[in-house]
Amino acid sequence: MVRQSIEVRGLTVAYDAKVAIRNINHVFPGGTSTAVMGPNGSGKTTLLNALAGLVTPITGSIIGVDPPDVGYVMQHGSAGWMPITVGEVLEMGRYRHAGLLRRLSGADRSAIAAAAEHLAIADLMGRQFHDLSGGQQQRVRVARALAGQPQVLLLDEPITGLDLPSQHRILEVMAAETRRGTTVVLTTHHLDEARHCTEVVLMATELVAAGVPDEVLRPAALRRAFGGRILGDHDTHDHDHELLIFDDHGHGDHGSHGAHSPGFPPAVDPTRGESGGPRS
Ligand code: ADP
Ligand code: MG
Repeated sequence: MVRQSIEVRGLTVAYDAKVAIRNINHVFPGGTSTAVMGPNGSGKTTLLNALAGLVTPITGSIIGVDPPDVGYVMQHGSAGWMPITVGEVLEMGRYRHAGLLRRLSGADRSAIAAAAEHLAIADLMGRQFHDLSGGQQQRVRVARALAGQPQVLLLDEPITGLDLPSQHRILEVMAAETRRGTTVVLTTHHLDEARHCTEVVLMATELVAAGVPDEVLRPAALRRAFGGRILGDHDTHDHDHELLIFDDHGHGDHGSHGAHSPGFPPAVDPTRGESGGPRS
């Protein structure tokens, strides 16, 4: 597989007058995993949307991603209402290969079966998506992205709020994808998850720090990104593991529910709600 590096140059994105990310310069090396961290509202989702080609920057450019080669697991919220089976959700992951109306080929079916196997959902294929637990639904969303065999995999808070077995399964799959050469970019509030990535990027509208986890996940840089929301008094030693980040883990921010996703195929995603209400 091609190891697809992504180069972001001078990227600024605004919603009307509100600048969401400012002058981001960064290279995501091909075949690595990067954890994007930062408080709510710091621009993490906007950065992923820009990488996926869903928002138009006011300045800057992104080199190296072709939107069809991107798999994007958006921040999960309410589950939408359309009746659809798990198998049908995974078939959506093959649309760019198969087209909307063509019959699935053998290659499509084996990509779907492999993704279902990796996410441990093979036994759920005939079930209604909306009847599944939150952790099962998220594993289905990740499997849909994998079924498309993307070169770039974007995941927005993929494990936040999930049961532990689902978290572990998704983390293992992300690590395996990185080893295969996929370029993985995820957002997270979990320091442990970030430590397992190749690199970490800290956001606070601007890019505050970037580098390997041991360099970036230190008190000084974390304070620059999170301000008073971290607890820890370890400026003089290296006990980063004792740092705690206080944040509300993505609940209640409004930036995640489709309003700024013009043209994202499919136009209606049956695994996501149209409104931002909580999952029932
Ligand atoms: P994060 O994912 O880190 O919580 P976002 O990228 O969602 O941050 O949001 C960055 C900033 O842009 C925030 O100030 C947020 O309020 C604003 N924002 C996000 N989406 C929209 C939108 N659709 N319309 C207006 N402002 C938005
Ligand atoms: Mg977000």
